[in-house]
Parts: sequence; structure tokens; C-alpha cells
Amino acid sequence: MKNRLGIIGGGQLGMMITEAAQNLTDEISEITVLDPTENCPASQSGAKQIVGDFKDEIVILKLAEQSDIITYEIESGNTDVLSKLKAKIEPSPSTLGTIQDKLSQKTFLSENELPVSEFYEITSLDDLREKINELGLPVLLKSRRDAYDGRGNFKITSSDEIEKAYQHFNGKSLMVEKFVNFKMEVSVIAARNTKGEIATYPLVENIHENNILKITIAPARVSEDVIINAGEIAKKTMQVLNGAGVFGIEMFVDQDDKILINEIAPRVHNSGHHTLQSCKTSQFEQHLRAILGLKLGSTELVHKTVMCNILGPDGFEGKYKQVELEKDGAYLKMYGKEISKPQRKLGHFNVVDLSDSKDVSELLQMADEIKNTVTVSPA
Ligand code: AMP
Repeated sequence: MKNRLGIIGGGQLGMMITEAAQNLTDEISEITVLDPTENCPASQSGAKQIVGDFKDEIVILKLAEQSDIITYEIESGNTDVLSKLKAKIEPSPSTLGTIQDKLSQKTFLSENELPVSEFYEITSLDDLREKINELGLPVLLKSRRDAYDGRGNFKITSSDEIEKAYQHFNGKSLMVEKFVNFKMEVSVIAARNTKGEIATYPLVENIHENNILKITIAPARVSEDVIINAGEIAKKTMQVLNGAGVFGIEMFVDQDDKILINEIAPRVHNSGHHTLQSCKTSQFEQHLRAILGLKLGSTELVHKTVMCNILGPDGFEGKYKQVELEKDGAYLKMYGKEISKPQRKLGHFNVVDLSDSKDVSELLQMADEIKNTVTVSPA
């Protein structure tokens, strides 16, 4: 039986899931996305769109009527509404619920003996002072919910910042964790299908600026021990998580090469965009295979690849000129967003070592040269 696929969120991730779904013609008959922006990226790739808010029960019910299976590209979905739906939802609302709250996510990981930085729930300013006494400075004070790209984090380095940090969150529910002096940020894209089969992609290295991912390097430039250790941690995470789909597992490598999990995204992940050209199976196809209960595809990294995000430049908001890139081994993917805003993800490009003759530093240099040519400028 063919499935009608529903996706909550039709941004770039929904767009690339849509494109992968269009190739699974034996399994998927139609694709509908729910997104508040008319003509969202996924609809430009051919998905039907319901225009509406991700948390609005009425439109979620409408999506469910038109879908046999629902997935999502955002983690802020309304789990109360999702749990009530008759449609199949993957990853399950309960897995989403655990991940949505950073405190319950970290508690879940540490109860399962997965490595995370030391953390506490924070219930008051006095409580924060007390917990900082135990942890020592610096710490990160984090909003437990609805916080992405570092926007919900406040680094406290000295005791006179404690009150300011606490007030900054204006009554939101909070947690605090020890600041990790990491030497590298890495991630594993991992998949688990509805039958329990697990597959992990090779470890990649992520470079952030202002908390936004700028560059992913596949594979990560780390020792074999770190690769093995991170792979084992990712597999164990998938075993205990119990959800079906692709997950992005973000980790730190500390100064002693110890791995700590920072965060899990219950969805396809920006640091997996390289798989579109570098791996036998893209993370988007893998996600669909996982939620449909198909055998998972090969996660082998066939070509070393550097992925660069194309972000809206600071100080400009508006329509922008078409971005173009023609170079052997370089693949541009724009997301069809009409308006550029500062730091908005507008597209990405992959620099792929098609001849398997380059090292990562050469790919990085090529990416740097390309970056200067794919600039976003006002139309
Ligand atoms: P988050 O939104 O919690 O994933 O954090 C965004 C970024 O903040 C991460 O990619 C890290 O660069 C940084 N970060 C988060 N938690 C920690 C931590 N405990 N120690 C050091 N840096 C962190």
C-alpha cells in the first residue's frame, strides 16, 4: 500500500524530505506539508501545502486527514495534539516529548549512562547560585524549551553575571550545565527504522559561528578512537531512544578526547546535508526508509565533502539576486526563500572530492574560494 506522507514544517528540511519522497514512488503517493509561510520551500518542490501554524490543532487535524504517516522537520510540534491523532507519527510524540525539553532529554541520557556535561534543573535565583557553587564557573544557563541555535543559552563566567543571566530568561523554565571547553563539535546522523534496525553515518566535524552552523566537514578530523567512541555512543543513544526516523546527535570532543552529548535533534539535521552527494543514501531518503519500516540504506561515506551554509548577510532584509554556482565537484542547493534576513539559512553548497584525491584542507580552501562567489546581495 502506498502512503500519503504529511510533514509538519515545509522549510528546507521539509523540502529535501519532499524531494527524497518523490523518488520513492512505490511507497509514497502524495506529500502534504503544514507550514505558516505561503509558497514555503517544500511546496516549491511539489508538496501540497496547508498554510497554518505548527501548533494549531485544527490544521494539524486537517494534515492528519490527508496523511497515512506524519513526520516533522521541526521539534517544536504540539505533542498533546500529536498524541491524539489516529495517523501514524514518526518519530513518536513521546520521543519528541522527551527531546523537546532539554532537561528531560539530558536526564534521559544520563539515566541511560550516556555521557553529558553535569547539569541541574534551576527553580530560582538562589537555586542557581547554589548549583553554580557545586559546578564551578563557567556554566551555561539554558532555557529548557523552544530554544535553537544557541538563542536560549546564557554563558555565566563570573558571579556578578548570575542575576543578570537569571533575569534574562524572564521566568522561563531553566536548567544549568557545566561549560565544556571543547576542542571540537561533532555530530552523528543516526537512523532507526520502525523494526529496530539502526544505522549511523560517519562522524562529522561542525564549525559554528554565533551559534549557527557554518561548515560541516565529512569525515571529522579526529583520531580513530574518537570515531569509534562517538559511533558507539550514537548507537546506544538510538537503542535507548526507541523512536523511528533520522536523528542528529550533536556532541563535544573535550580536551582529553572524551565525548559528551550536547543535544539530540529528532529530525534530519543540517550537519547531514553533505550526505546528498557524499553518501550512498542521503539522510532524507534514510529518514523516509526509517519511518516507513524499509530496510535502511548504506551510510558509507563515498567521497570526502565539505558543506557550507549560505546565510543571509547582516544588515540586509529583502529580496535578493539569484545565487549561482558552476564548478566541478561543487553542488549548490538554494531553498527558494523569497526574503533574506540576517543569518537566515538560504541555502548550502557541498564541495565533494569526486576524484577521491584531495585532503580535507584542500576541500576547505575550495569551499572558502566558492564562498566569496556565492554572496547574497539585494535584488
Ligand atoms: P544548544 O542550542 O544547546 O545546542 O547550544 C548551541 C551551541 O552552544 C552549541 O553548538 C555549543 O557551541 C554551545 N554549547 C551548548 N552547550 C554547551 C556547553 N555545555 N558547553 C560549551 N558550549 C556549549
